Amino acid sequence: MSRDGRSRTRTYAAGALALLALATGCGEKGGGGSAAPAATAAAPAAPQSAGAAPAAAATTPGTAPAGGDAAAWAKWNLKPLAPAPAPPADKPVKLERTGAVPVFSDVKTSDKVVFITIDDGAEKDPKFVEMLTDLKVPISMFLTKDIVKNDYGYFKPLQALGNHIQNHTVTHPVMSKLAPEKQKAEICDDQSALTQQYGTAPLLFRPPFGDGANTPTLNTSVQECGPRAIVLWRESMQIHDMQYQAGDKKLKPGDIILAHFRGPKELKGATMTQMFGDLLARIQEQGFSVARLEDYIQAPAS
Ligand SMILES: [Zn+2]
Repeated sequence: MSRDGRSRTRTYAAGALALLALATGCGEKGGGGSAAPAATAAAPAAPQSAGAAPAAAATTPGTAPAGGDAAAWAKWNLKPLAPAPAPPADKPVKLERTGAVPVFSDVKTSDKVVFITIDDGAEKDPKFVEMLTDLKVPISMFLTKDIVKNDYGYFKPLQALGNHIQNHTVTHPVMSKLAPEKQKAEICDDQSALTQQYGTAPLLFRPPFGDGANTPTLNTSVQECGPRAIVLWRESMQIHDMQYQAGDKKLKPGDIILAHFRGPKELKGATMTQMFGDLLARIQEQGFSVARLEDYIQAPAS
């Protein structure tokens, strides 16, 4: 973890909730890759041959989540992303109802897609809702209760677009510094608040800063609160560009990208929609489309 990350960490550990709400962010700035612990999906590989899904998908583009019309992209001064292929029928990640949860930072797929996750929930810019309504780019939102509770409603139109809400603790602590009972309170209380507010229990959990993701203690805490996977990331969006964990600084099929609900204060004057537009441009220029993470994950049979 970068020194920068550590100092933020200390701020949070001191319990400065006011600062938290301002969210200079999540602190998941990822110092070029060292901060984000990489992990591979523990889920079994799909039995189907990798080549079969994209071929089938090409013939059924109707359900492509990313899209919007050309005029919508032009309105935001963006080139349209390639439409995403149809979601795979055989999900690359299969979650179990019980037992240890897998930890992953990408999804095994040959589809030329990446997944966008947006964390914390500090910036609540109405323009971003307008942008996503126009562009229909899928996102997953990992929300922190103490950061979103002043306006749970902001995220509801984003959810209504088909985007899922996932667990990111109550106060955004460094999880590995907490006793198991405290870890559990952080995850379980966010789980129940988000379930109550948004009507669906989060399936996925992301620890702040990616910290503790691979510890047995955190895995147990997650299991006891309901989420069935721990999700990390391969790239971290900053203001105009991404930090890549890979040395070649290129997106790979199935990469999970971390971004944040941030505004001008955290983005050196740039807005949430400018940041997100730049993120889409970086994805577009590398020839990728954006798919919905949850469409590549099979929830446990209930
Ligand atoms: Zn965070």
